[in-house]
Amino acid sequence: MEHSVFKFSKDIALPSLCFSKERCYKYATVACMKGCYTNKLYSAFDTKHAMSDIDVRNTQWFLKSSPIDFRKEFQKLPLFMRFQKRFRYATRGETITKEKDLNKVIEIAKLNPDVQFMLPTRAWRKGRTKRQFDALLATLTGKAVINKYRHYMGSKNTDPMKEHSGIGRLASKLVEASKLKNLKILCSIDESTSEKEVDSLTKLGLSTMYFGDDSKTEGRFLCPKTHNKGEDITCVNCVGGCFSDVQIHVHLKKH
Ligand code: SF4
Repeated sequence: MEHSVFKFSKDIALPSLCFSKERCYKYATVACMKGCYTNKLYSAFDTKHAMSDIDVRNTQWFLKSSPIDFRKEFQKLPLFMRFQKRFRYATRGETITKEKDLNKVIEIAKLNPDVQFMLPTRAWRKGRTKRQFDALLATLTGKAVINKYRHYMGSKNTDPMKEHSGIGRLASKLVEASKLKNLKILCSIDESTSEKEVDSLTKLGLSTMYFGDDSKTEGRFLCPKTHNKGEDITCVNCVGGCFSDVQIHVHLKKH
């Protein structure tokens, strides 16, 4: 059996692809800096840089590979790792730093309609992308904020559907990508995410994944893996969580 670039994460019982930590920096929040899971792993187990080297290697592979390469790698996995046909992006690091990364994720999902993909990301936030998101929300909800962001839209037209195609491409694409049946984009949020931002993401039809305050569970789906430890439910057999085909707001309990 040829070795696959994908890692089988025993914890979630799914094949996954890790990315280098540096790709998170542009989106990192204060909460990320304080409780970064990857930082903890690296400081505990990565004394010889084997883990971080693999993350860098996998990132380079993703950047160079085609959707067909992805399919081939997936097929290399032993059957017990892929029988559920579920795959998780970014157990470490960040998948999307540029629009072309998202393009590739979309192409991979389209070429592998029999595989369900889960993609947690913070690419919705920070800088221009965040402003584009606000602009997108404005166009979809038709609010007065449209005027504030008109310069990003490049158009005087205020018709929501027309504006939708004329603004920030990454923001629009995240929303569009989330409509693919086999690609679940989960916008990572935490205690530093404002209610307004959560509201914006929700109105755009995007799903979220919250990690932070364990008491803030209202309206969120309690991740069985982290909330009901010992019940043998994890990402491979979870029902109604990140792989569900409806908008979902997942709450992860702190480990
Ligand atoms: S909600 Fe389900 S799929 Fe999502 S992280 Fe938890 S166990 Fe995995």
